Order: sequence, then structure tokens, then C-alpha cells
Amino acid sequence: MKIQNSPVTQHQFNGVDFYLKRDDKLHPQFSGNKARKFMGLLDGDFPAITTIIGYGSPQANSLYSLAALAQLKGWQLDFYVDHIPSFLQENPKGNYRAALALGANIIALNERDDAIKSDGTLYSSFDYIHQARQPNAHELFVPEGGRCGLAESGVKQLATELIAWKKEQALNSLTVALPSGTGTTALFLHKHLKAHDINVITCACVGGDAYLTAQFLELGETDHPEILTPTKKHHFGKLYRHDYDVWKTLLLQTGVEFELLYDPLMWRCLSNWLPNNTNQTLLYIHQGGLLGNESMLPRYQRKFD
Ligand SMILES: *Cc1c(COP(=O)(O)O)cnc(C)c1O
Repeated sequence: MKIQNSPVTQHQFNGVDFYLKRDDKLHPQFSGNKARKFMGLLDGDFPAITTIIGYGSPQANSLYSLAALAQLKGWQLDFYVDHIPSFLQENPKGNYRAALALGANIIALNERDDAIKSDGTLYSSFDYIHQARQPNAHELFVPEGGRCGLAESGVKQLATELIAWKKEQALNSLTVALPSGTGTTALFLHKHLKAHDINVITCACVGGDAYLTAQFLELGETDHPEILTPTKKHHFGKLYRHDYDVWKTLLLQTGVEFELLYDPLMWRCLSNWLPNNTNQTLLYIHQGGLLGNESMLPRYQRKFD
């Protein structure tokens, strides 16, 4: 069974109409942009593979998505993290909790003797995997957050769905908006949409505009989506009252729960973009990640409510 063709719903935000591509509804476990990025692994045939090896934060959306992928394929997931904070270990939440429930093997390097280098410091997860674990022919290594060419086929399928939807709606032009981390999703979307009069706009949630452009270039593309710049500096993972207000307003006006790490910044950028682009049809891509709200929302509530 193919996991694709998420629905499109219609909403208003502060009086402006927009459409919403519901990739949060792709599949109960395997959803959002991580599912799109890993879809090539789900759909492909890998007879020799028994295990996927990933790494990143123990709260990452990609941890949960890789755990869901592993379960769907009958693979083991070994996921490396630098350490697991004690509050999380004692009270598992969100992506970490759900990945454990799907059988993920989450390996904390700070608890392993063989992760200490000869100079006494700890390997990074990436270096540990390549120098100590050394994946064998039955093990597939997946870069952090799916930042790689392997992501292209699944994102191309998303582009195909958007092109078909635009045609169905008989639109002359369309603007697609989505926030970026590594920029992989926005970049490959732009690559496959630009010939179809569909603009892609995004914003840098991690590391600023120059970092995002560097990420685009590293993926081997020189033609990039448009980057909207927020009016105020923004640090990934920090809590901002303005972000929380935007998130609550979206929930109230659309009845849709958005994600708390990435979506509020894109909507803040859109609030400035929309008044100057009233002639454009806007489609926002819901990139899932809602399990992360299980830990983000209580943090916001403690800080601002
Ligand atoms: C990972 C993620 C992003 C960023 O995706 P990139 O392809 O790394 O730019 C945005 N939103 C959500 C909810 C995510 O999980």
C-alpha cells in the first residue's frame, strides 16, 4: 500500500483564505515531511537490509518517523543520540516516548565506554557510526533529518500531488509555503514545482538565511525557493510569546493544530507577506511533527499562561 495523497482543506487566517495540504494526515504513524523524505525507503526494495541506523536529538521528529518506517518494513532501528536528558528518561514524552513504543533502540553515547576517543572526549554520533559502528551490508545509514538525495523521490511525489491539485482547481498560479530546517523539503519541492507556475516560499527556522542557502547548495542545487526573512531574530527551540500567540490564533481560527517549533515562524513571516500578495493563492504545507507538541506545549504553558 502506498502512503500518499493527503487531503487539502480550506481555512482562513486573520481574514485571508488559504489552503492546507494535510501531510499531518498521511498515515497514523508515518506522516509529515519526514515521512515524505523517507518514502523512498518505504517504497523501495531493500532485500539485504535488516537495520537502519540514524542519529539526532532524542526529541526529533525524524526519530519517531524512522521508528515508524522500521516497523512498517520489519527493520530494526538503531538511533544514536549524544545523551538522553534525565527528565526525559524519567518521564518519556512525545517523539521519544512514541519511538520507544514502536521498538526503537535509542543508544546514548555518553553511556558507552567505546564512545570515548583516545583524547578523552566523546565521539559525535556521526563519527561514532562511521568509525566505531561501521555499518555493514545489512545496515542502512540515514543522515540526520533525512538531509540527502534519498529524500528527493518522496518530496517529488508531494510535488506531483500539488500539481494535480492546482490543475483540478483550475488555478493559473499558486504559492506554496513551508518552514525549513535543513531546507531539504522546500528545495526539492521548488525543483519539481517551478516548471508548473508554483512558487515555493520558506523561512530559515535553524541558523538563519545564509545557513539555509548553504544547505541548499550542499544538496547540489543552485536554483532555490524564496526565503522570507523574519523581522526579528529567532533562535531554534527558544520560546517566544509571539510564536505561541500565532499558534493559538491558528488553532482558534482554523481548528487545526500546527506544530510549535517550525510553523509559528513561517506564519509570522506570512503575516508580513500576505498584505503585499493578496492576488496570490496560498497553500500551506502541514509538515506533521505534532508529537513534539507533547513536550513543547507544556513548556509554553508554563512560561506564558
Ligand atoms: C523536519 C521538519 C521541518 C523541516 O524540514 P526540512 O526538510 O529539514 O527543512 C519542518 N517542519 C516539521 C514539522 C519538521 O518535522
